[in-house]
Amino acid sequence: MVSVDYLIIGGGIAGTSAAEVLREKDAHVKIAILEAGPHVLYSRVLIPKYIKGQIQREALFLRKVSDYAEKNIDFYPSAKVSKINSEKREAILENGLIFSYKTLLIASGGKPRDVLPGVLRMHTLEDAEKIKKVVRDTKEKTALILGEGLIALEFLSIFILNGFKTHLATKDDAWGEARLGQAGAEMLEEVFKKHGVIIHNKIANGEKIKSALTAAGIGLSRNLEAFAGLEVGQGILTNEFLETSRPGIFAAGDIAEFFDVVAGRRRIVGNWTNSFLQGRAAALNMLAPPSAGLTPFRNVSAYNISCLDERLTFAGDTEDFDDTLEITKDGTLLRALFKTDKLKGAVLINRFNDKMETVRLIEQRAAKDEVAKIFS
Ligand SMILES: Cc1cc2nc3c(=O)[nH]c(=O)nc-3n(C[C@H](O)[C@H](O)[C@H](O)COP(=O)(O)OP(=O)(O)OC[C@H]3O[C@@H](n4cnc5c(N)ncnc54)[C@H](O)[C@@H]3O)c2cc1C
Repeated sequence: MVSVDYLIIGGGIAGTSAAEVLREKDAHVKIAILEAGPHVLYSRVLIPKYIKGQIQREALFLRKVSDYAEKNIDFYPSAKVSKINSEKREAILENGLIFSYKTLLIASGGKPRDVLPGVLRMHTLEDAEKIKKVVRDTKEKTALILGEGLIALEFLSIFILNGFKTHLATKDDAWGEARLGQAGAEMLEEVFKKHGVIIHNKIANGEKIKSALTAAGIGLSRNLEAFAGLEVGQGILTNEFLETSRPGIFAAGDIAEFFDVVAGRRRIVGNWTNSFLQGRAAALNMLAPPSAGLTPFRNVSAYNISCLDERLTFAGDTEDFDDTLEITKDGTLLRALFKTDKLKGAVLINRFNDKMETVRLIEQRAAKDEVAKIFS
């Protein structure tokens, strides 16, 4: 049995940023990170650039093994936690090794939803190596992309760059409409068609589309089996302090279904900066003495993605709204999403310069009139 003060499950950006804050604030405590994969922290955000050959493999890595040693953080690669015992304050690895802790952070991220064997996914460095290889080696340059997740757009850029005749398929009425609204979906459809992309809307069971490669961008699920005893929904449920239903156990990053104080509801955010900030915020709350009270996590998340020269930004809560305001102008779109006349989220196409102002207005819960006046 290994005993530590602070145990972190997951060595991604949330877990690493938490460990580093814990060390910054206390030079003496014992901190361990258990990471299921073989690697130190690397950037998932840069994976598409690596696949496209725009950066070298080394550029993906954000830490060296020596960085952990220098900070006196015990980093255990290939250490997958199979269950926790929150009564005994223990985490048990697949290989049977037990870690006991005083305070635990679960930062184990998400995983792509299951797909049929042979369908490409893009989540890990190993996925990236595989995609690079098949894109290079496949003779017949045709590809099918299933789903409307942001990873579908990453696949699209990669296939088009490599000269693939690409099909996009969705069960919905129009590709991207659920996220982008009708005007946004139409804008993207025009761009896709310009690049020769064939769009298949409303695909039905049994429909056949022939392609050499098939890739999926259908979103993330979460591995929750290891965390029996904690309240879970789609992720691990936390309050606004990122504390789970068990005192002394926190969750941060893509695994956390946290109470978002800006959105006014529990939600999951799959976003690099959000995970970084949550890791830090969780660490500060893990360190807080009982008398000090905990600090709520507050952030308006924003995600940018470029695809075929179009720049998309998703800010705030883009899933919980009862009214919209759409402004389209010269190949740009602002789609503002309101609930009870308060701005909750927004989708921007080619309006990157408006991101900060949009985030500010979401933070202030601006009314529709005000948003219309500012952006028209
Ligand atoms: C291809 C790609 C492109 C992206 N692009 C962007 C972008 O442009 N902008 C943006 O904001 N976000 C982007 N994201 C999303 C962003 O990378 C994630 O939101 C972020 O990495 C989540 O960080 P995390 O630390 O919560 O989880 P993860 O990065 O998933 O890290 C969790 C870690 O926990 C480990 N783990 C899981 N289970 C266990 C276990 N039982 N025991 C021990 N360890 C475990 C995993 O191996 C993993 O290393 C992208 C993601 C991908 C895949």
